[in-house]
Amino acid sequence: MDYRYDVIICGAGVAGVAAALECARGGLATALVEKTILPGGLATSGLVNIYLPLCDGQGTQVTFGLAEELLHLALKYGPGDIPAGWNARPPAGRLQAAFSPASFVLALDEALQGAGVTLWLDTLACTPLPDGDRVTGVAVESKGGRDRLLAPVTIDATGDADIAARAGVPCEVGTNILSLWALAATLDAARQAIDAGDGTALLTLFAFGGDAVDPHVESAERTWTLERAADVTAFALAARAVLREHYQAAQAQVGRRNSFPLTLPTMAQYRMTRRIHGRATLRAGQAGRRHADAVGLAADWRAAGSVWEIPYGALLPTGARGLLAAGRCISATGDAWHVTRVIPAAALTGQVAGVAARLAVARRGLPDALEAAAVQEELRRMGIPCGLADVYSAPPR
Ligand SMILES: Cc1cc2nc3c(=O)[nH]c(=O)nc-3n(C[C@H](O)[C@H](O)[C@H](O)COP(=O)(O)OP(=O)(O)OC[C@H]3O[C@@H](n4cnc5c(N)ncnc54)[C@H](O)[C@@H]3O)c2cc1C
Repeated sequence: MDYRYDVIICGAGVAGVAAALECARGGLATALVEKTILPGGLATSGLVNIYLPLCDGQGTQVTFGLAEELLHLALKYGPGDIPAGWNARPPAGRLQAAFSPASFVLALDEALQGAGVTLWLDTLACTPLPDGDRVTGVAVESKGGRDRLLAPVTIDATGDADIAARAGVPCEVGTNILSLWALAATLDAARQAIDAGDGTALLTLFAFGGDAVDPHVESAERTWTLERAADVTAFALAARAVLREHYQAAQAQVGRRNSFPLTLPTMAQYRMTRRIHGRATLRAGQAGRRHADAVGLAADWRAAGSVWEIPYGALLPTGARGLLAAGRCISATGDAWHVTRVIPAAALTGQVAGVAARLAVARRGLPDALEAAAVQEELRRMGIPCGLADVYSAPPR
Protein backbone atom coordinates (compact mmCIF):
# COMPACT_ATOMS: atom_id res chain seq x y z
CA MET A 1 0.00 0.00 0.00
CA ASP A 2 1.05 3.61 -0.54
CA TYR A 3 0.43 6.17 2.23
CA ARG A 4 1.00 9.89 1.67
CA TYR A 5 2.14 12.37 4.31
CA ASP A 6 3.77 15.80 4.44
CA VAL A 7 6.68 14.43 6.43
CA ILE A 8 7.99 11.00 7.42
CA ILE A 9 10.21 10.66 10.46
CA CYS A 10 12.20 7.44 10.79
CA GLY A 11 12.98 6.56 14.41
CA ALA A 12 11.10 7.70 17.52
CA GLY A 13 14.02 8.45 19.83
CA VAL A 14 14.00 11.87 21.47
CA ALA A 15 15.10 13.43 18.14
CA GLY A 16 12.32 11.76 16.16
CA VAL A 17 9.72 12.58 18.82
CA ALA A 18 10.75 16.25 18.86
CA ALA A 19 10.65 16.40 15.06
CA ALA A 20 7.22 14.74 15.01
CA LEU A 21 5.75 17.05 17.67
CA GLU A 22 7.07 20.12 15.87
CA CYS A 23 5.65 19.00 12.51
CA ALA A 24 2.27 17.76 13.73
CA ARG A 25 1.64 20.82 15.94
CA GLY A 26 2.48 22.92 12.89
CA GLY A 27 -0.30 21.21 10.96
CA LEU A 28 1.70 18.75 8.83
CA ALA A 29 0.41 15.23 8.16
CA THR A 30 3.18 13.50 10.12
CA ALA A 31 4.18 9.83 10.16
CA LEU A 32 6.57 8.60 12.86
CA VAL A 33 8.03 5.15 12.13
CA GLU A 34 9.55 3.20 15.03
CA LYS A 35 10.91 -0.34 14.97
CA THR A 36 10.12 -0.99 18.66
CA ILE A 37 6.79 -0.31 20.35
CA LEU A 38 8.17 2.48 22.58
CA PRO A 39 8.95 6.11 21.80
CA GLY A 40 12.14 7.49 23.39
CA GLY A 41 14.89 5.33 21.85
CA LEU A 42 18.00 5.08 24.02
CA ALA A 43 16.33 7.29 26.65
CA THR A 44 13.59 4.67 27.23
CA SER A 45 14.30 1.34 25.49
CA GLY A 46 18.00 1.92 26.25
CA LEU A 47 17.36 2.87 29.93
CA VAL A 48 19.62 5.92 29.57
CA ASN A 49 17.73 7.83 32.23
CA ILE A 50 19.75 10.99 32.82
CA TYR A 51 18.47 13.99 30.90
CA LEU A 52 21.72 15.95 30.60
CA PRO A 53 21.77 19.73 31.14
CA LEU A 54 20.01 22.46 29.23
CA CYS A 55 22.21 25.01 31.01
CA ASP A 56 25.86 26.01 30.78
CA GLY A 57 26.76 25.05 34.37
CA GLN A 58 27.11 28.73 35.26
CA GLY A 59 23.42 29.36 35.82
CA THR A 60 22.34 30.25 32.25
CA GLN A 61 19.92 28.11 30.24
CA VAL A 62 21.13 27.67 26.65
CA THR A 63 18.85 24.97 25.16
CA PHE A 64 15.13 25.71 24.86
CA GLY A 65 11.97 24.62 23.05
CA LEU A 66 11.02 20.95 22.86
CA ALA A 67 14.30 19.98 24.54
CA GLU A 68 12.95 21.72 27.64
CA GLU A 69 9.41 20.38 27.22
CA LEU A 70 10.71 16.81 26.96
CA LEU A 71 12.72 17.23 30.19
CA HIS A 72 9.46 18.08 31.96
CA LEU A 73 7.63 15.20 30.23
CA ALA A 74 10.34 12.81 31.46
CA LEU A 75 9.39 13.77 35.03
CA LYS A 76 5.62 14.11 34.55
CA TYR A 77 4.66 10.62 35.77
CA GLY A 78 7.37 10.61 38.48
CA PRO A 79 9.71 10.38 40.23
CA GLY A 80 12.65 12.80 40.03
CA ASP A 81 13.10 16.56 40.13
CA ILE A 82 15.19 19.30 38.57
CA PRO A 83 17.68 20.52 41.20
CA ALA A 84 16.56 23.80 42.76
CA GLY A 85 19.34 26.33 42.49
CA TRP A 86 20.67 25.30 39.08
CA ASN A 87 20.32 28.98 38.13
CA ALA A 88 21.74 30.44 41.34
CA ARG A 89 25.06 32.29 41.13
CA PRO A 90 27.10 30.22 41.78
CA PRO A 91 24.72 27.42 40.71
CA ALA A 92 23.84 24.43 42.86
CA GLY A 93 23.58 21.66 40.26
CA ARG A 94 22.50 21.90 36.64
CA LEU A 95 19.22 22.02 34.74
CA GLN A 96 19.02 18.24 34.29
CA ALA A 97 17.31 15.27 35.94
CA ALA A 98 17.26 11.50 36.34
CA PHE A 99 13.92 10.02 35.27
CA SER A 100 12.00 6.76 34.98
CA PRO A 101 12.12 5.50 31.36
CA ALA A 102 8.66 3.93 31.76
CA SER A 103 7.16 7.22 32.96
CA PHE A 104 8.77 9.01 30.01
CA VAL A 105 7.12 6.57 27.57
CA LEU A 106 3.67 7.27 29.05
CA ALA A 107 4.15 11.02 28.72
CA LEU A 108 5.56 10.75 25.17
CA ASP A 109 2.60 8.61 24.04
CA GLU A 110 0.27 11.25 25.41
CA ALA A 111 2.10 14.13 23.72
CA LEU A 112 2.41 12.39 20.34
CA GLN A 113 -1.22 11.32 20.24
CA GLY A 114 -2.33 14.75 21.48
CA ALA A 115 -0.43 16.39 18.60
CA GLY A 116 -2.04 14.10 16.03
CA VAL A 117 1.12 12.26 14.94
CA THR A 118 0.41 9.05 13.00
CA LEU A 119 2.48 6.44 14.80
CA TRP A 120 3.79 3.40 12.97
CA LEU A 121 5.07 1.29 15.87
CA ASP A 122 6.69 -2.12 15.42
CA THR A 123 7.57 -0.94 11.91
CA LEU A 124 11.02 -0.94 10.37
CA ALA A 125 11.99 1.84 7.98
CA CYS A 126 13.85 -0.24 5.42
CA THR A 127 14.96 1.67 2.36
CA PRO A 128 14.59 5.19 1.01
CA LEU A 129 12.49 5.63 -2.12
CA PRO A 130 14.71 7.53 -4.57
CA ASP A 131 13.83 9.77 -7.48
CA GLY A 132 17.30 10.62 -8.79
CA ASP A 133 19.14 12.13 -5.81
CA ARG A 134 15.86 13.02 -4.14
CA VAL A 135 14.37 10.92 -1.33
CA THR A 136 10.60 10.75 -1.76
CA GLY A 137 9.77 8.53 1.21
CA VAL A 138 10.62 5.13 2.67
CA ALA A 139 9.63 1.51 2.24
CA VAL A 140 8.59 0.09 5.61
CA GLU A 141 8.11 -3.46 6.85
CA SER A 142 5.60 -4.38 9.53
CA LYS A 143 3.17 -7.14 10.47
CA GLY A 144 1.11 -5.94 7.51
CA GLY A 145 3.97 -6.62 5.09
CA ARG A 146 5.77 -4.02 3.04
CA ASP A 147 4.26 -0.56 2.49
CA ARG A 148 5.49 2.68 0.93
CA LEU A 149 5.26 5.94 2.86
CA LEU A 150 5.59 8.94 0.55
CA ALA A 151 6.30 12.57 1.49
CA PRO A 152 8.20 15.60 0.22
CA VAL A 153 10.39 15.55 3.37
CA THR A 154 11.92 12.56 5.18
CA ILE A 155 13.80 12.92 8.48
CA ASP A 156 16.38 10.30 9.42
CA ALA A 157 16.23 10.10 13.22
CA THR A 158 17.27 6.45 13.40
CA GLY A 159 20.33 7.35 15.49
CA ASP A 160 22.35 5.25 13.05
CA ALA A 161 21.75 7.20 9.80
CA ASP A 162 20.14 4.06 8.37
CA ILE A 163 18.08 5.88 5.75
CA ALA A 164 20.79 8.36 4.77
CA ALA A 165 23.39 5.60 4.35
CA ARG A 166 21.03 3.58 2.18
CA ALA A 167 20.32 6.70 0.11
CA GLY A 168 24.04 6.82 -0.69
CA VAL A 169 24.95 9.64 1.70
CA PRO A 170 28.62 9.35 2.75
CA CYS A 171 28.80 8.53 6.45
CA GLU A 172 31.38 8.11 9.22
CA VAL A 173 31.20 4.95 11.31
CA GLY A 174 31.80 5.45 15.04
CA THR A 175 33.52 3.16 17.50
CA ASN A 176 32.23 2.29 20.94
CA ILE A 177 33.34 0.68 24.15
CA LEU A 178 31.25 -2.10 25.63
CA SER A 179 28.49 -0.48 27.73
CA LEU A 180 25.39 -1.47 29.61
CA TRP A 181 22.96 0.40 31.83
CA ALA A 182 20.42 -1.74 33.69
CA LEU A 183 17.93 -0.87 36.41
CA ALA A 184 19.01 -2.70 39.54
CA ALA A 185 16.98 -3.61 42.64
CA THR A 186 18.63 -3.65 46.06
CA LEU A 187 17.09 -3.73 49.51
CA ASP A 188 19.26 -0.72 50.40
CA ALA A 189 17.66 1.35 47.63
CA ALA A 190 14.18 0.21 48.70
CA ARG A 191 14.95 1.18 52.32
CA GLN A 192 16.27 4.57 51.21
CA ALA A 193 13.11 5.21 49.16
CA ILE A 194 10.85 4.30 52.10
CA ASP A 195 12.85 6.44 54.55
CA ALA A 196 12.73 9.43 52.17
CA GLY A 197 9.09 8.87 51.11
CA ASP A 198 10.41 9.33 47.56
CA GLY A 199 10.88 6.55 45.00
CA THR A 200 13.75 8.28 43.16
CA ALA A 201 16.25 5.92 44.83
CA LEU A 202 14.52 3.07 42.94
CA LEU A 203 16.04 4.44 39.72
CA THR A 204 19.34 2.89 40.82
CA LEU A 205 21.42 1.67 37.91
CA PHE A 206 24.13 -0.84 37.46
CA ALA A 207 26.09 0.83 34.68
CA PHE A 208 29.45 0.23 33.09
CA GLY A 209 31.22 1.48 30.02
CA GLY A 210 31.76 5.20 30.42
CA ASP A 211 33.73 7.45 28.13
CA ALA A 212 36.94 6.44 29.89
CA VAL A 213 38.37 2.96 30.35
CA ASP A 214 36.18 1.08 32.81
CA PRO A 215 37.44 -1.55 35.23
CA HIS A 216 34.35 -3.69 34.58
CA VAL A 217 35.27 -4.16 30.96
CA GLU A 218 38.26 -6.35 30.41
CA SER A 219 37.97 -5.71 26.66
CA ALA A 220 38.42 -1.96 27.04
CA GLU A 221 40.89 -1.88 24.18
CA ARG A 222 38.38 -3.50 21.87
CA THR A 223 36.10 -1.07 20.12
CA TRP A 224 32.73 -2.05 18.79
CA THR A 225 30.99 -0.87 15.66
CA LEU A 226 27.45 -1.43 14.46
CA GLU A 227 27.56 -2.46 10.84
CA ARG A 228 26.02 -5.94 10.76
CA ALA A 229 23.52 -7.92 12.85
CA ALA A 230 26.45 -10.02 14.08
CA ASP A 231 28.07 -6.88 15.58
CA VAL A 232 24.94 -5.98 17.56
CA THR A 233 24.46 -9.58 18.68
CA ALA A 234 28.05 -9.84 19.93
CA PHE A 235 27.81 -6.43 21.67
CA ALA A 236 24.55 -7.29 23.46
CA LEU A 237 25.71 -10.76 24.57
CA ALA A 238 29.10 -9.49 25.78
CA ALA A 239 27.46 -6.67 27.76
CA ARG A 240 24.99 -9.06 29.44
CA ALA A 241 27.83 -11.46 30.26
CA VAL A 242 29.52 -8.67 32.24
CA LEU A 243 26.23 -8.07 34.08
CA ARG A 244 25.91 -11.79 34.88
CA GLU A 245 29.43 -11.87 36.29
CA HIS A 246 28.64 -8.79 38.39
CA TYR A 247 25.59 -10.47 39.94
CA GLN A 248 27.40 -13.75 40.51
CA ALA A 249 29.94 -11.83 42.59
CA ALA A 250 27.41 -9.50 44.28
CA GLN A 251 24.98 -12.27 45.21
CA ALA A 252 27.78 -14.35 46.71
CA GLN A 253 28.16 -11.46 49.17
CA VAL A 254 24.60 -10.28 49.85
CA GLY A 255 22.29 -13.01 48.50
CA ARG A 256 19.91 -13.25 45.53
CA ARG A 257 16.95 -11.74 47.43
CA ASN A 258 18.85 -8.54 48.20
CA SER A 259 20.39 -7.51 44.89
CA PHE A 260 19.19 -8.47 41.42
CA PRO A 261 18.65 -6.98 37.94
CA LEU A 262 15.21 -5.46 37.44
CA THR A 263 15.04 -4.18 33.85
CA LEU A 264 17.41 -4.69 30.93
CA PRO A 265 17.79 -2.41 27.91
CA THR A 266 16.03 -3.60 24.79
CA MET A 267 18.30 -1.50 22.56
CA ALA A 268 22.05 -2.03 22.24
CA GLN A 269 23.73 0.82 24.10
CA TYR A 270 25.98 2.14 21.40
CA ARG A 271 26.83 5.80 21.66
CA MET A 272 28.16 6.56 18.18
CA THR A 273 27.26 4.20 15.37
CA ARG A 274 27.11 6.11 12.11
CA ARG A 275 26.64 9.77 11.28
CA ILE A 276 26.11 11.62 8.03
CA HIS A 277 28.62 13.77 6.26
CA GLY A 278 26.64 16.98 6.17
CA ARG A 279 27.00 20.19 4.27
CA ALA A 280 28.63 21.45 7.48
CA THR A 281 30.36 19.40 10.19
CA LEU A 282 30.74 20.38 13.82
CA ARG A 283 34.29 19.55 14.88
CA ALA A 284 36.31 19.08 18.04
CA GLY A 285 37.47 22.36 19.53
CA GLN A 286 34.55 24.39 18.17
CA ALA A 287 32.96 25.18 21.56
CA GLY A 288 32.19 28.88 21.57
CA ARG A 289 32.73 29.13 17.78
CA ARG A 290 30.16 31.21 15.81
CA HIS A 291 28.49 29.64 12.76
CA ALA A 292 26.60 31.85 10.31
CA ASP A 293 23.91 29.14 10.02
CA ALA A 294 23.64 28.38 13.78
CA VAL A 295 20.22 26.97 14.70
CA GLY A 296 20.61 26.25 18.39
CA LEU A 297 22.90 25.82 21.36
CA ALA A 298 24.05 22.71 23.19
CA ALA A 299 25.98 22.67 26.45
CA ASP A 300 28.78 20.25 27.18
CA TRP A 301 27.71 18.37 30.31
CA ARG A 302 31.35 17.66 31.14
CA ALA A 303 32.60 21.25 31.31
CA ALA A 304 30.85 24.31 32.72
CA GLY A 305 30.89 27.24 30.28
CA SER A 306 31.44 25.07 27.20
CA VAL A 307 28.57 25.91 24.83
CA TRP A 308 28.35 24.92 21.17
CA GLU A 309 26.45 26.49 18.29
CA ILE A 310 24.94 23.85 16.02
CA PRO A 311 25.02 24.69 12.29
CA TYR A 312 21.98 23.96 10.12
CA GLY A 313 24.29 22.40 7.52
CA ALA A 314 25.03 19.57 9.99
CA LEU A 315 21.44 18.34 9.47
CA LEU A 316 21.68 18.37 5.67
CA PRO A 317 23.16 15.17 4.20
CA THR A 318 25.45 15.58 1.22
CA GLY A 319 24.27 13.88 -1.94
CA ALA A 320 20.57 13.49 -1.08
CA ARG A 321 17.77 16.00 -1.32
CA GLY A 322 14.46 15.93 0.54
CA LEU A 323 16.24 14.36 3.52
CA LEU A 324 17.24 15.77 6.91
CA ALA A 325 19.14 14.12 9.74
CA ALA A 326 18.35 14.68 13.42
CA GLY A 327 19.74 13.44 16.73
CA ARG A 328 22.94 11.50 17.23
CA CYS A 329 23.49 10.93 13.49
CA ILE A 330 23.91 14.60 12.47
CA SER A 331 27.25 15.70 11.08
CA ALA A 332 29.59 16.04 14.06
CA THR A 333 32.94 14.46 14.59
CA GLY A 334 35.46 13.84 17.36
CA ASP A 335 34.57 15.47 20.65
CA ALA A 336 31.77 17.47 18.98
CA TRP A 337 29.93 14.16 18.38
CA HIS A 338 29.87 13.65 22.17
CA VAL A 339 28.11 16.99 22.53
CA THR A 340 25.51 16.50 19.79
CA ARG A 341 24.65 12.87 20.61
CA VAL A 342 23.12 13.38 24.08
CA ILE A 343 19.43 13.74 24.89
CA PRO A 344 18.98 17.55 24.99
CA ALA A 345 21.00 18.15 21.80
CA ALA A 346 19.12 15.30 20.05
CA ALA A 347 15.78 16.86 21.02
CA LEU A 348 17.00 20.26 19.81
CA THR A 349 18.13 19.02 16.39
CA GLY A 350 14.90 17.02 16.10
CA GLN A 351 12.91 20.20 16.59
CA VAL A 352 15.10 22.12 14.12
CA ALA A 353 14.55 19.38 11.51
CA GLY A 354 10.81 19.68 12.19
CA VAL A 355 10.89 23.45 11.71
CA ALA A 356 12.81 23.06 8.44
CA ALA A 357 10.30 20.44 7.26
CA ARG A 358 7.40 22.79 8.06
CA LEU A 359 8.96 25.68 6.16
CA ALA A 360 9.85 23.50 3.18
CA VAL A 361 6.34 22.04 2.93
CA ALA A 362 4.75 25.49 3.26
CA ARG A 363 6.92 26.72 0.34
CA ARG A 364 6.46 23.50 -1.64
CA GLY A 365 10.24 23.25 -1.66
CA LEU A 366 12.92 21.05 -0.13
CA PRO A 367 14.74 21.61 3.17
CA ASP A 368 18.14 21.71 1.44
CA ALA A 369 16.94 24.68 -0.66
CA LEU A 370 15.93 26.69 2.43
CA GLU A 371 18.08 29.62 3.48
CA ALA A 372 19.39 29.00 6.99
CA ALA A 373 18.20 32.54 7.74
CA ALA A 374 14.58 31.42 7.25
CA VAL A 375 15.02 28.59 9.78
CA GLN A 376 16.75 30.95 12.21
CA GLU A 377 13.99 33.55 11.86
CA GLU A 378 11.32 30.96 12.60
CA LEU A 379 13.21 29.55 15.60
CA ARG A 380 13.71 33.02 17.07
CA ARG A 381 10.02 33.81 16.50
CA MET A 382 9.30 30.70 18.60
CA GLY A 383 11.63 31.99 21.35
CA ILE A 384 14.43 29.50 20.61
CA PRO A 385 17.93 31.03 20.61
CA CYS A 386 20.02 30.11 17.60
CA GLY A 387 23.43 31.47 18.52
CA LEU A 388 25.54 32.50 21.50
CA ALA A 389 24.68 36.15 20.94
CA ASP A 390 20.98 35.34 21.54
CA VAL A 391 21.77 34.20 25.08
CA TYR A 392 24.89 36.03 26.22
CA SER A 393 25.73 39.70 26.16
CA ALA A 394 29.33 38.53 26.69
CA PRO A 395 30.61 35.05 25.75
CA PRO A 396 30.76 32.51 28.64
CA ARG A 397 34.09 31.93 30.39
C1 LIG B 1 25.62 3.83 27.42
C2 LIG B 1 25.06 5.18 27.07
C3 LIG B 1 24.99 6.16 28.05
C4 LIG B 1 24.47 7.41 27.74
N1 LIG B 1 24.32 8.34 28.72
C5 LIG B 1 23.64 9.48 28.50
C6 LIG B 1 23.23 10.32 29.55
O1 LIG B 1 23.53 10.08 30.73
N2 LIG B 1 22.48 11.41 29.25
C7 LIG B 1 22.17 11.77 27.97
O2 LIG B 1 21.53 12.81 27.76
N3 LIG B 1 22.55 10.97 26.93
C8 LIG B 1 23.23 9.84 27.18
N4 LIG B 1 23.52 8.97 26.15
C9 LIG B 1 23.20 9.37 24.78
C10 LIG B 1 21.72 9.41 24.49
O3 LIG B 1 21.01 8.47 25.22
C11 LIG B 1 21.40 9.15 23.02
O4 LIG B 1 22.45 9.48 22.18
C12 LIG B 1 20.17 9.94 22.61
O5 LIG B 1 19.10 9.49 23.42
C13 LIG B 1 19.99 9.74 21.12
O6 LIG B 1 18.70 10.07 20.70
P1 LIG B 1 18.30 9.87 19.16
O7 LIG B 1 16.86 10.15 19.10
O8 LIG B 1 19.23 10.61 18.30
O9 LIG B 1 18.61 8.32 18.84
P2 LIG B 1 18.09 6.98 19.50
O10 LIG B 1 17.77 7.16 20.93
O11 LIG B 1 19.07 5.95 19.12
O12 LIG B 1 16.68 6.74 18.76
C14 LIG B 1 16.60 6.16 17.49
C15 LIG B 1 15.27 5.47 17.37
O13 LIG B 1 15.11 5.00 16.06
C16 LIG B 1 14.65 3.67 16.06
N5 LIG B 1 15.15 3.07 14.82
C17 LIG B 1 16.44 2.83 14.48
N6 LIG B 1 16.51 2.35 13.24
C18 LIG B 1 15.24 2.29 12.78
C19 LIG B 1 14.65 1.89 11.54
N7 LIG B 1 15.40 1.49 10.51
N8 LIG B 1 13.30 1.94 11.42
C20 LIG B 1 12.53 2.36 12.47
N9 LIG B 1 13.03 2.75 13.65
C21 LIG B 1 14.36 2.74 13.79
C22 LIG B 1 15.23 3.07 17.33
O14 LIG B 1 14.48 1.96 17.76
C23 LIG B 1 15.13 4.26 18.28
O15 LIG B 1 13.89 4.31 18.93
C24 LIG B 1 24.04 7.70 26.43
C25 LIG B 1 24.12 6.70 25.44
C26 LIG B 1 24.62 5.47 25.77
C27 LIG B 1 24.66 4.42 24.71
